[in-house]
Amino acid sequence: MAGPEDVIDELRPWQRPLRAQFPILAGRPGPAYLDSAATSQKPQAVLDAVHTYLTTSNANAGRGSYPWANTTTALVEGARDRVKRFLGDPDPGRSSVHFTSGATQGLRTVALDWLPGVLTDGDEIVVPFADHQANLSPWLEVRELLARQGVRILVRELPYQASSGDYDPAELAARVGPRTRFVAATHVHHVYGVDMNVHRVRRVVGPDVPICLDAAQSVGHLPVSVAGLDVDFVVFSGHKTMALPGSGAVWARGLRGPRLVPGGWSGTPNTAGIVSLAAALDWLDTAGTDRIERWTVALASLLTDALSRMDAYEVLGCRTSLTAGSEVQRRRSIVTFRHRAIGSQDLGFILFSHGFMVRSDGHCQAGAGDKEGSVRVSLHVHNTPEEIAELVTTLASLQ
Ligand code: PLP
Repeated sequence: MAGPEDVIDELRPWQRPLRAQFPILAGRPGPAYLDSAATSQKPQAVLDAVHTYLTTSNANAGRGSYPWANTTTALVEGARDRVKRFLGDPDPGRSSVHFTSGATQGLRTVALDWLPGVLTDGDEIVVPFADHQANLSPWLEVRELLARQGVRILVRELPYQASSGDYDPAELAARVGPRTRFVAATHVHHVYGVDMNVHRVRRVVGPDVPICLDAAQSVGHLPVSVAGLDVDFVVFSGHKTMALPGSGAVWARGLRGPRLVPGGWSGTPNTAGIVSLAAALDWLDTAGTDRIERWTVALASLLTDALSRMDAYEVLGCRTSLTAGSEVQRRRSIVTFRHRAIGSQDLGFILFSHGFMVRSDGHCQAGAGDKEGSVRVSLHVHNTPEEIAELVTTLASLQ
């Protein structure tokens, strides 16, 4: 089985020209951007698509019948199809895509505009209490909303398996019953970088329970196939997927439960954001999410292996080697750690003074999450083994 160095050697000729396509990074010695889990950098093709749109056919979508308005409407509708193709939608005639400002708004859309329609008094839902706050608050909000109408909903915690860091199917089975109407899960954890093995959730809950997947940290980082996952909603951020800030989407299968019809008058859509999202998905498909996954996992593996050899650091989540073929390769492109003596905020400042942009705080973890600050390094296709090597040297000098 190939180790991270072999993967890097193999993919270097593919990766180098891709990095050159990020104007914010190209031709600069540094600093190194290691915060893609917060938001992604944008390749030139995405910026060009937005520029072309705004300088040739900017108008409102779904309103007006002159050429620019028609072009804008066609771009927005085309972007819905683009999202479906990107997610390997096996039944695009049935599913729907709704544009949002990001994953948070996407999860709230499913919660507030769809979930109340499937719940009656005494029903139960299962949601994560230690993932991102954005994947907990909306479900609790629905419980409060329905409680005010006299409808009581039991919210159960999606359980974790301490040994692997992903969901615990056996424990979940004990919490699922005939009144379970809905499960919210996360694809890749935003702090531990672990693939939460959500396909096992479907096996436990059976064929009829709708599952909403927060894919904010997986879309664009690895191939995400809705057919393979058998989930009902995929929610993701455009801005973490190389599109503009203020963009995101909900893909809804329309198979289990009523169709998702976002409530109220939605007003003018973020047309430039939607255009950027379609261009970003084109770019990612051309680059190949399978190779992006292998490249970033190999870099994350180098960093995790180096950190685990330094006593001064504690790596959160999987601690052992992530070498391809090992049992813990579930970790994707996120590595989070603490220094045993230096506070994480301080470590973040120190790292920036050495040219590394990392995130150092509590990472918006939900109620049951680990609230103590930590430093998160999150990678994307533009990151290089040289950046990781320099980071490791800097971290080693702080022991
Ligand atoms: N879910 C996860 C797993 C995340 O990592 C994030 C952002 O960090 C969100 C949801 C919220 O995404 P957005 O910033 O697009 O609202």
